[in-house]
Amino acid sequence: MISVDQWSSGSQIYFLTHLHANHTVGLSPRWNKGPIYCSRITTRLFHPKFPGFDLSLLRVIEIGRWYSLLLVSPSTGMETKVQVMAIDANHCPGAFMYLFRGEFGIMLYTGDFRWEVSSEIAQMGKTMLLNALKNDKIDTLSFSGSRCSTGDVLFLLNFLIHNFTVLESSMPVIFKVGGLEV
Ligand SMILES: [Zn+2]
Repeated sequence: MISVDQWSSGSQIYFLTHLHANHTVGLSPRWNKGPIYCSRITTRLFHPKFPGFDLSLLRVIEIGRWYSLLLVSPSTGMETKVQVMAIDANHCPGAFMYLFRGEFGIMLYTGDFRWEVSSEIAQMGKTMLLNALKNDKIDTLSFSGSRCSTGDVLFLLNFLIHNFTVLESSMPVIFKVGGLEV
């Protein structure tokens, strides 16, 4: 239904965290599988990286607000609403984390990120995540982790544990290099 940094399958919509090469394997100037959501900064970097890319396929998503998308549920074949919020990953200009709500629960896909304790952007990201979740908890946490230090990962996990008690034994925490499909 949704792919993040994953370009090989037949998803309905696609999300790009940032344009580093290990997140765009399978993406090319001939891309025609569907719209790609990403930051405004990332859209500006598309042309230099993929000359000739059909820029009308790009959808700008702004940080810190919920977007609602109507998709077709792969399990029921009925229309289903998916909400998404972008959060600053503090990794490179325009890099996002994505927080999703949908029939699959609440999922945070970090992509590459840098959330040191001293980082002002990380503090803003934390506040944004707290406000977005309110009393809800994350059902699935997915790290792409290709450029994250152990310290970044531990910092995020600690933050989530202290604020949301998300790490119940049932919560899958996915450590993977590459993209996400749900
Ligand atoms: Zn990266």
